[in-house]
Amino acid sequence: MLVDSHCHIDGEQFDGDRDEVVERAREAGVVAMLNIGTGDPRSDDFRRAVAVAEKYENVYAAVGVHPHDAKLYDDAAEQHLIELAKSEKVIAWGEIGLDYYYEHSPRDVQRDVFRRQIRTARELDLPIIIHSRDADDETVEILTDECSCDGFRGIMHCFGGTPQMAEDLMKIGFLISFAGNVTFKKADNLREAARVVPLDKLLIETDCPFLTPVPFRGKRNEPSFVIYTAQFLADLYDTDLETVASRTTQNFLDFFKLDLTAETRVRR
Ligand SMILES: [Zn+2]
Ligand SMILES: [Zn+2]
Repeated sequence: MLVDSHCHIDGEQFDGDRDEVVERAREAGVVAMLNIGTGDPRSDDFRRAVAVAEKYENVYAAVGVHPHDAKLYDDAAEQHLIELAKSEKVIAWGEIGLDYYYEHSPRDVQRDVFRRQIRTARELDLPIIIHSRDADDETVEILTDECSCDGFRGIMHCFGGTPQMAEDLMKIGFLISFAGNVTFKKADNLREAARVVPLDKLLIETDCPFLTPVPFRGKRNEPSFVIYTAQFLADLYDTDLETVASRTTQNFLDFFKLDLTAETRVRR
């Protein structure tokens, strides 16, 4: 059993074969997928992400404005997402955070919108999915500030920081999710960080259609490929695929209080 903790299968890259992609994931043992909505919060982008989750069993959704689009976040956008979050299939708020690498939105706007969305998610009792690029210190600072008091927590997706960052986030209850880029030849820094993450704090993801793991690097990524990242981490941890697969699946189900034996989500 595997879980893809972060994918984007509502995008147009999957319009031609989404049914097959979901089917292939199931055949590969992927028992749950968390589809992250992104895009313009004034458009139908997020509605589309939730619709995909509602269509497929054990596909869930997150809504939240990506740091790239922070400049588009306003009261109307927030209300739109809060409405969508009422769906039973929406189990998280994200991806939110800071991206100083592309800097598509001004940094101060990113910081304000990040904090604002954390507070909204907290009010809705939805865990947060965090995106951070070239902004690790500020990401940790804001999360420690906003999340460390009452057990409110989230997932650091596509981990790209230092071992210290991983430690700091685990300390405030966050899970650390690795994507296919941990398999890339030059990613020694990611492997160094992965070594400090114990199995009970670990998740795996594809972030598809991006970051396709070795040996399919260069092709479109899809949830069934999460098994290659699981195998890679199993080798890194000197354990077997089964152990990484079952532990990361259990972490995901426990974190979101999901019971996959039910057709739809059931709060334990
Ligand atoms: Zn991201
Ligand atoms: Zn993403």
